[in-house]
Amino acid sequence: MGRDGMADSVDIREALGLRPVINCAGTMTSLGASIAVPDAIDAVTRILPQWTEMADLQRCASRVIAQVTGAQAGFVTASTSAGLTLSVAAAMTGCDLAAVERLPDTTGLANEVLLLAGHNVSYGAPVTQAIALAGARPVLVGQATSASAYQLEGAITDRTSSVLFVVSHHVVHYGQIPLQTVCEIAHARAIPVIVDAASEYDLTGFIKGGADLVLYSGHKFLGGPTSGIIAGRKDLIAACYQQNRGIGRGLKVGKEGIAGVIAALHAWQRRDHAAIRARESAILAVWQDRLAGFAGVEARRSPDPTGNPLDRLTVTIDPNVARVTAWDLADRLAAGAPPVMVRDDEIDLGYFQLDPCNLHHGEEVIVADRIAAELEAARGDNAPSPMCFAEWSLRRERAALAWPD
Ligand SMILES: *Cc1c(COP(=O)(O)O)cnc(C)c1O
Repeated sequence: MGRDGMADSVDIREALGLRPVINCAGTMTSLGASIAVPDAIDAVTRILPQWTEMADLQRCASRVIAQVTGAQAGFVTASTSAGLTLSVAAAMTGCDLAAVERLPDTTGLANEVLLLAGHNVSYGAPVTQAIALAGARPVLVGQATSASAYQLEGAITDRTSSVLFVVSHHVVHYGQIPLQTVCEIAHARAIPVIVDAASEYDLTGFIKGGADLVLYSGHKFLGGPTSGIIAGRKDLIAACYQQNRGIGRGLKVGKEGIAGVIAALHAWQRRDHAAIRARESAILAVWQDRLAGFAGVEARRSPDPTGNPLDRLTVTIDPNVARVTAWDLADRLAAGAPPVMVRDDEIDLGYFQLDPCNLHHGEEVIVADRIAAELEAARGDNAPSPMCFAEWSLRRERAALAWPD
């Protein structure tokens, strides 16, 4: 194994004819989620050739998840998205196996899931669809930009089975009901609160804050294999587990996913978080210094919107001066060699971000060189034809539909 846990042999991407992309976009599922930590890679390799009793492996995961999160129990599934569907299912069926087998038919069950309208986002797929997959019906509370306690109280009926609270950079960040209030209102009516904390570093705060089930991604910051972690109340976790006899069958995780995420959780506890933060800060300084000389380019550090201990570099492009738009520059970076993928979810506002947390050693210099080269080329371009954003976004949609060509 090399320094980053990579085999010292030929890059598998080369063998498969894939482009050696550099990820400055963040923990993006579409780019492979994260660089798996060496301990997780080792655990996956060691368990793949072995037989094991899966119920015991999940018991072991439950204990580790409980220890790391402070929850009573835990369960591993295929992804956070799967965890959403299973948590919603668990809140409807409990451990009633007949009801488990009937899903997504929810006849006779309370089947409404309350969701703040400002939390009705897409993480690559709609949150509401993950709810509907269990047979439940999402019910929106409030409006996108404002929700109040009375609206949540008024939405609770005999049909309510759970409340879903989403923590994400995608949600509306103002005018929402705080988790503490959501928990107080829901618990007064004995309704469980499910928190989607897929991208959060804080593995204890939501349980401590009163959530009944909390979902984390095993393959984002934790650096585990593709997986989702559910932590929470023992009775609800047991009901999540029983979904394996129903809709959970197609959402199940293999032995390698469970063993890998157990190793990733242990590694997270041993990780030198301060040293990683310092390394990320040094990477941001490299980029900021390099971009300082370019007219029409502003680079400043931005804190993570949900409060994770992670800063990114926001690069704002003035196309009249830099002679290239933010979206054209992002395209050129992605098309060049090596391809550099930037964080572009707000690119229509004229900026992209550079995320330092998924780089192999030394890649930050390649990224700085690539951006500088593209900016220099744009500056020397006498006939720039910056594409308007509307055209760019339609072209991107069409390109996505062209797969597998
Ligand atoms: C990434 C993300 C998901 C989906 O996570 P997967 O583990 O890839 O299914 C769900 N919710 C939020 C808030 C996310 O950020």
